[in-house]
Amino acid sequence: MSPLRAGALCSVPTPALAMMLLLTGLGVPPSQAQGAAEAAVQETVQETVQLDKVRLRGRGNNSRLELQFDGAVWGDASMPSQDRLQLDLVGVRSGENLKLPKLRDRSVREMRLGRTGEDTLRIEFLLARTVRHEWREKDGRSSFIVHLGDKAPVELRDIVIAVDAGHGGRDPGAINRRSKLYEKTVVLKIADELAKRIDKVKGLKAFRIRRGDESLHLSTRKVRARTAGADFFVSIHADAEESGRARGGSVFSLSSRGATNVAAGLLARRENQADDLLGDIPVKALDDDLVQVLTDLSVNAMQDRGAIAARMVLKHLRKVIRIHGSGTGQANFSVLRNHQIPSILVETGFISNQRDARNLNSWRMRQRIAQAVLDGIVDYFNRFPLPDTRFDQKQRYYKVRAGDTLSGIARREGVSVEALKAANNLKRDIIHKGQRLVIPK
Ligand SMILES: [Zn+2]
Repeated sequence: MSPLRAGALCSVPTPALAMMLLLTGLGVPPSQAQGAAEAAVQETVQETVQLDKVRLRGRGNNSRLELQFDGAVWGDASMPSQDRLQLDLVGVRSGENLKLPKLRDRSVREMRLGRTGEDTLRIEFLLARTVRHEWREKDGRSSFIVHLGDKAPVELRDIVIAVDAGHGGRDPGAINRRSKLYEKTVVLKIADELAKRIDKVKGLKAFRIRRGDESLHLSTRKVRARTAGADFFVSIHADAEESGRARGGSVFSLSSRGATNVAAGLLARRENQADDLLGDIPVKALDDDLVQVLTDLSVNAMQDRGAIAARMVLKHLRKVIRIHGSGTGQANFSVLRNHQIPSILVETGFISNQRDARNLNSWRMRQRIAQAVLDGIVDYFNRFPLPDTRFDQKQRYYKVRAGDTLSGIARREGVSVEALKAANNLKRDIIHKGQRLVIPK
């Protein structure tokens, strides 16, 4: 057994070199020995598998050392001591120009390669702490992975947005008497449009609370959101007022401290009346005292988050529709109550106003409203990213300027045009000024 090369951060003896050293040791002249060794290697090169690359990949908890072989490899890892992981691989040699990555301040302090016999490659990892390791196979090639992070790498999950269309079924919500436009109808259309757009954003997934013209108790909406594992709750509504003069949208978040203004209080009372309207639908006692105590602890923090999310959505909504008053407020909405997740209620306009009603009845305006709500939600998750989601790592965006091309943006952002198109669900190369593009990682 030949000694291991200590601290082999450079290239490793190739089989040819190893054999040359062996032959010269037997008294064969060096030039001849080299030729013989090369010939021997030529013969065996078909049978041996080569360690092609050693790479440091991923970041943080996902960082790992990947050893890539050009064929299938069998070998068990052993730990001769607490701080040493060892692989003996028969029929494997290291590549001619193999480079080892620098491993400063990693859980693997050093990696060494050497030979323990004619055809056995020994790989040693000197450990600063215990690591997880595994073999992976793809297309007949093996790779050996040493996970360097503290935690096992996690699959990124989607952020679930519960999209609730207010009212429904026997509860029409607000009504425009002249045009017979029902709140329950237009808000379902906006909610569906929003859900569709959410699903197009990588890392987001929509969950529709109401899927048609169904009567849905407020507490059922909350239970559905909870069951779906929602991370965010948005309820879409349209306002109404007697005179027909009031116009504009607003975004509310929940407050247990009472409504921030009288109008918000009145609005909350009206939206909450859905409970009474659906009084004949049996309701299970969902929040017993214990659950109530537990949820209250987390609800307060989420109310603040809800208020921030409401402001972010309003910022985008403002570009699309007229805003009523200050545009945000907090009120004690039933539909938002008891959520342990940030929850907002969007009033998309006054259905009692003829101009607002026309807007709400327009397909184009509903699209723009849905997009504005989505933009606000995306802003929110960029600001408050959730762990183990795509928003965990800082998501970058680019706002398209006049004269921009997809290929130009891709070049500047250091990504491929294909990746840019995939991240933004673009079928064609056409982009327009002001469009927000997700920059893939
Ligand atoms: Zn409503």
